[in-house]
Amino acid sequence: MSKKTSVAKKEKVVEEVANQVSTATGVALVQPNMDSEYVGTVRISSFNYDTKLYVRLYLWLYMSVIKDYKFRKRKIGFRFEDGTVVTMKVRTAIVNLIFWKPYCDFNKPITQSTLFDTKYVSDDTIANRLDEIIAEFKGYGITIEQMCKVVRHIIESLSSISVNFCVKIGNTINMRDIIDLADRHPQFNEILHTHYDEENLPSFQEIERDIMARNDIMAEIIKSDVQSAIRPFIKAGGNVNMGQMAQCLVCIGPRSDIYGNIAPVIVNTNFVLGLRNVSDYYLESYSQRKALIANRYQMCDSGYTSRQIDLSTVDSCLVDVDDCGTEETIEFFIPDKKTLTMLEYKYIETGRDKKGKPFYHEINPKTDESLIGQTVKLRSHTVCALPQGQYCKKCYGEMSYITMGFQTNLLASHSFTEPVSQTVLSTKHLNKTRTKVINWPDIIKQFFKTESEGLYMKPDFCTKDYEIGFYTEDIEEYLNMITEGGSEDDEDDETEGDVMMDYVTRFVIAKDGDMVNFDNLDVELYINSEFLQKVLRSSKIENGIIFISLAGQASDEPVFDINIENIEISAYLKRVMCLLGVKSKTTYTTISDLLQRLTASVIEIGVKINFTHLESIVYNMIRDPGFIIRRPDFSKKDAAPQYVIIPTNKSIMYSRSLTTGLAFERIAQQFKDVYTYLKSDEGFLDPFFR
Ligand SMILES: [Zn+2]
Repeated sequence: MSKKTSVAKKEKVVEEVANQVSTATGVALVQPNMDSEYVGTVRISSFNYDTKLYVRLYLWLYMSVIKDYKFRKRKIGFRFEDGTVVTMKVRTAIVNLIFWKPYCDFNKPITQSTLFDTKYVSDDTIANRLDEIIAEFKGYGITIEQMCKVVRHIIESLSSISVNFCVKIGNTINMRDIIDLADRHPQFNEILHTHYDEENLPSFQEIERDIMARNDIMAEIIKSDVQSAIRPFIKAGGNVNMGQMAQCLVCIGPRSDIYGNIAPVIVNTNFVLGLRNVSDYYLESYSQRKALIANRYQMCDSGYTSRQIDLSTVDSCLVDVDDCGTEETIEFFIPDKKTLTMLEYKYIETGRDKKGKPFYHEINPKTDESLIGQTVKLRSHTVCALPQGQYCKKCYGEMSYITMGFQTNLLASHSFTEPVSQTVLSTKHLNKTRTKVINWPDIIKQFFKTESEGLYMKPDFCTKDYEIGFYTEDIEEYLNMITEGGSEDDEDDETEGDVMMDYVTRFVIAKDGDMVNFDNLDVELYINSEFLQKVLRSSKIENGIIFISLAGQASDEPVFDINIENIEISAYLKRVMCLLGVKSKTTYTTISDLLQRLTASVIEIGVKINFTHLESIVYNMIRDPGFIIRRPDFSKKDAAPQYVIIPTNKSIMYSRSLTTGLAFERIAQQFKDVYTYLKSDEGFLDPFFR
């Protein structure tokens, strides 16, 4: 069919629908009159139970907007079954019709509570609405396949809106828009020219906080300005990285080097205004090297992690068995709301009847807040009693309603690795510092002026009455530097570098023989190199402590330098890799311990994932200590079996099917291993090896 006839045909359909819709709805829909502001009123019941009519109404509205873009602003009324009429713009009606599809498909009445407010349309609100729809139709006699189909329809229809209309309205961001915004809003202009007093630089935490606070104000201003072309992007959410926006519009702020150390000077400008001087360029180039290195090393780490988790999980899956009948549970502590939210759909044991048969309760984060702070007995498919490679719906939890029929373990693997690699990926696009907040103990504040980069003695204590003392065992290496010209057993040149990086976490301050102890400090204190000279010159050593007089110590010269720790996503990836034993060994002994730590890490990284998926990932790491390629048999009623937890790389090597192991590395080693010849199970990857 040529394009022309297709358009003509569509137009004919549009006209036909208009007639039919108005006939079918009686009064409702007036003829498409391009001048009128009001389209008409449609009785919801007229299309609620007639999918064909629903599609026609939807297409008619959609095509009318395609034909005439102004049509989107016209009004259309919907009369609900209780008689209420809700009027909305055509564009809102189109979105609502998309969300009403399941109600028409499955004959469920469309009520006012189903209305979607497009004023707040964003990634999150769309996801929430989809979740609500899935929850609403669960138990409505609809198979998961039907549900998937209709959810896919909603997602595809929504994305077709941007495909068809974004080009038409030509929404892009440009510099002119930012200049205009600054002209219209004095506060926008003020924040755009954010500049911190370099003589009296606030602490880095304050700067970071301030930048983000100002960024939030910028976002609000943009959201309120209908003339701005940036507005739709900010309103939609998800498309704009707020951190990147802050660096463009507010201030670039603190920068860190490849080791994660934050430079003591900031880049006091933003990308819109541009870099100003040599210092800015230097800091930028210095910190951006990290992105290149991250690209080279961390990206492959993250890819490798994904592949390992895929292979480690691939040979197991949820099966259509209601309950394996196990009485085994795992103990799990719920420290906070976020953890509780992750546990949605899981079953916990709440008690037992007289015969000792357990009762179960499905966790609902909205109504089960009382579980926070408690240790629960969790049904977990990590200890499911079904044969190896299979787990039942009760152990898996109520999410089985959504995931039944999928390869649930690969789904888990992807739900986990995709956001993790996405976060790693974004570190190279956004080089941002996140300084750790140091809460200085009062005792430190009493004697020292605390700054973001160092500790300075308060002037009151810079007299001959006061002495500072270090434990000689802590600074032995410093002392050796002068007494022996190097440490004893090490002859290579790097020694000096290592020594300089040493730090203390305790010291004393003495006055007339009275000592104030500073013990077990939470911060690594590096003795300032100038001050270190004084330490090395001192000869007063008593009871293992070397004392240095504070007489003449200038209050603007630091005693300690502080290495500001830079918390980074790469550190999290390392931790996840470590926990799952990617490239390394694991250290935990119980399933509870592993899941507890994994959950905490995932929450800290900010990856949103259901707990069920974490269990799926862990499932294949649990093995029979006597026969490593087997899972322990959890079906025995009397006693819980012995188990070991092996790292993911080993769990692939000792996969139950031959192909999974061979799809991995260390082929030669596998052929030398007797277990390889004991593998007899079929595997997910078998078809690829035939
Ligand atoms: Zn089970």
